[in-house]
Amino acid sequence: MKDLSLMTWKEIKQTDKEKSIVFAVLAPIEEHGPCLPLATDLIEGEHWSRGAMKEIEEKDGIECYYLPSFPIAAASVNRFYGSVHFSMKTTCEVTCEILESLRHMGFQHIIVIASHADPDHQIAVIKAIRRINKKYGVCALAPMGAIFEGNGIEAPEDVKELEKEYGNDFHAGWIETSSLLAIDETCVRDGYKNLPDTCISERDMISKEKQLQAMGKYGYIGMPRLATKELGDHLNQNCIASIHEAVINFYHRKGYDKYDEYFLYKILPLHLGFLSVFGKVKRG
Ligand SMILES: [Zn+2]
Repeated sequence: MKDLSLMTWKEIKQTDKEKSIVFAVLAPIEEHGPCLPLATDLIEGEHWSRGAMKEIEEKDGIECYYLPSFPIAAASVNRFYGSVHFSMKTTCEVTCEILESLRHMGFQHIIVIASHADPDHQIAVIKAIRRINKKYGVCALAPMGAIFEGNGIEAPEDVKELEKEYGNDFHAGWIETSSLLAIDETCVRDGYKNLPDTCISERDMISKEKQLQAMGKYGYIGMPRLATKELGDHLNQNCIASIHEAVINFYHRKGYDKYDEYFLYKILPLHLGFLSVFGKVKRG
């Protein structure tokens, strides 16, 4: 796999665009509770896309390229200290322009890894994908929305067990803490085992006020105390395998429909963030 930004334009021009795939990670710099760094989603997105690129090159023999990650993302709750967020409109426009640039270079298989599960971010990115695919013919896919909705490869048993009992783990809880422990445990600060659980129902996640309330003074929603490195390994491997499947099917333009769908995209009120009245990023 090669970083496009370290190549010259001539080298890029010589690559076989029909037989190569290019990845771009878009995720926020965002507070992740007292034990995880602001770059958590970027670290995850880079780890997952590199894992998938490695598998694709080794097993499928297709060349992979990537751009440096873009620390750009929309989020529904932006009032917590420490985050750098963008509106849905800005996120969508930037994604469109990244896709336009890659399309202009001739790439025909472009994968956006939006490694931030917030529906505001997913919808903004998917809208950009749809615009580009309409303009140039199908050339881009953003599979993370479908994967976050559980439509990727079936999760391993230990993950499913925990999801059943402690499923409302929305932000910087056991899922993300485990993932980071497995990627690089020096990223995770001591004390996560002693953090109290913060709970919110899936329905209340729609309300920004209730989310903010649930985050309290800590800034996470979930149960970080349940995190382990082993769970993280399983979560990350599952995510990599799902991305691999999505990308290969997309490359062959066959059987990738489930990765091109995002259930929440159909809920129109979630698109209100594109309007400047509703879409303001509130800081403080
Ligand atoms: Zn996160």
